[in-house]
Amino acid sequence: MNAAVYYGPNDIRLENLDFNEACKNDMNLLRVLSCSVCSYDVRTYRNGNFKVTPPVILGHEICAELVEEYKSSNLYLKPQTRVSIYPVIPCLECWYCHKRKFNLCNNLKEVGSTINGGFAEYIAIPKKVFEIGGIIPVSDNITNEEASLIEPLACCINSVNQVKDMEFESAIIFGDGPIGLMQLMLLKRFLKISVTMIGKIKHRLETAKKLGADLVILSDDDSELSNGLNQIKEINGRFSPNLIFISNNNPGCIKSALKLVNKNGRIILFSGFKNKLYHQKKSSSINIDPNFLHYNQVSISGSFSSNPVNLKEAMDLVDSREIDLHSLISNTYSIDKIKEAFNTSESFIGIKSIINDF
Ligand SMILES: [Zn+2]
Ligand SMILES: [Zn+2]
Repeated sequence: MNAAVYYGPNDIRLENLDFNEACKNDMNLLRVLSCSVCSYDVRTYRNGNFKVTPPVILGHEICAELVEEYKSSNLYLKPQTRVSIYPVIPCLECWYCHKRKFNLCNNLKEVGSTINGGFAEYIAIPKKVFEIGGIIPVSDNITNEEASLIEPLACCINSVNQVKDMEFESAIIFGDGPIGLMQLMLLKRFLKISVTMIGKIKHRLETAKKLGADLVILSDDDSELSNGLNQIKEINGRFSPNLIFISNNNPGCIKSALKLVNKNGRIILFSGFKNKLYHQKKSSSINIDPNFLHYNQVSISGSFSSNPVNLKEAMDLVDSREIDLHSLISNTYSIDKIKEAFNTSESFIGIKSIINDF
């Protein structure tokens, strides 16, 4: 099978691998139909990542079809069923797994990091991912490319679900990438509040407007986003952001968020944050005044990955066309052009690059 194998920073090689060897007894073989490029893949390709030990095939935003049937006491899927894949392999033994919070598993393994991912013609998925409901059939209504975006949409749903039942006056999203745009759609749909998007890329902010952003702010100041802050402060009398998503990897935005957030506010850290050395687990630290949090009842929380239930929610929202993923798909490539796809993604050309030809 054709596979793009990651060997380390700036070293990805197109190889022909024997996929039968790669598929063990406790795994099921699927043929990849599309795999979307995540900024995580690009960062890992450029700088390495503490979670990834090469050689490994990257790619965790996957639409695939079953090669053979899957049959167990809980589930039957016939060959050629198209599915979206939950890229978390849980231990099923820890407290978080017992609570079905598999994304927080104490012994977490991940498709496209710990085991081979979707930038290949075939992929072997552990049967336990099937058993926890992590293999979601794709309806005929949804294209292969859209189905590969179900995973990142599920991660966005996981972040928005944290605040879905709370009340906010208005929201800010830092980051105009695919994640920020998906969160924008979810906030408009579920919280029905005013949303300001702060980003660095003009054409993405134009897309944000089309997708319902009430205000977009172009700010190319990477450290403090001072222009954006002033603009927001000027109109602060009109709306007071008390829900803020940080959906880029810039820790400077957390400082900005702390200056902007109103009382009873919530700041959600969606992304992994960059350090001087990207690949390290620790990111740069920020100073927080505990009294500010206390007197204003402000909380800061993280959001990481998703759970199978979020993938199902995502699939239903796309199937019913309540969430439009189609407008985010801008560039498609064959597997031999994977470096080009990564370049496109890191140069912010278009919105989402997808490998859909193997
Ligand atoms: Zn991703
Ligand atoms: Zn676990």
